Amino acid sequence: MMIGNAIFGTAVPGTFLLRHGKAPHFTSTDHAAAAWYECTRCGEFKAIRVGDVKPGRTVSCGCKGREGFIAHCKQRVSNLPRGTRKQMRRLARKGVPTGNIAKQFHLDKYVVSFTVQGQRGNAHA
Ligand SMILES: [Zn+2]
Repeated sequence: MMIGNAIFGTAVPGTFLLRHGKAPHFTSTDHAAAAWYECTRCGEFKAIRVGDVKPGRTVSCGCKGREGFIAHCKQRVSNLPRGTRKQMRRLARKGVPTGNIAKQFHLDKYVVSFTVQGQRGNAHA
């Protein structure tokens, strides 16, 4: 983060995170040190356990995983035959629950959500 000419936060090598001040403990029984981290991918601030922030563990605020998941679902959807996608949308319009459509087509319900609702897919619908 830049304020004037000063850079705040300490970069953690191998991650997208900048370390800021000390954060409160997560619970009264969890005494692991936590700090505020700024995600340089999306700008979000999040309290994370200091010991978790390292390559191969926590490398972003969680946006990296979310984007990977969305890309994965989109890829699965685009691999489906056009006719299948049409049928799924038709069932969804009739009010058939996402879970039932998923079972019928032997697909993950997240993939069904993305197919019938596009990118805004709500997996809990
Ligand atoms: Zn982020």
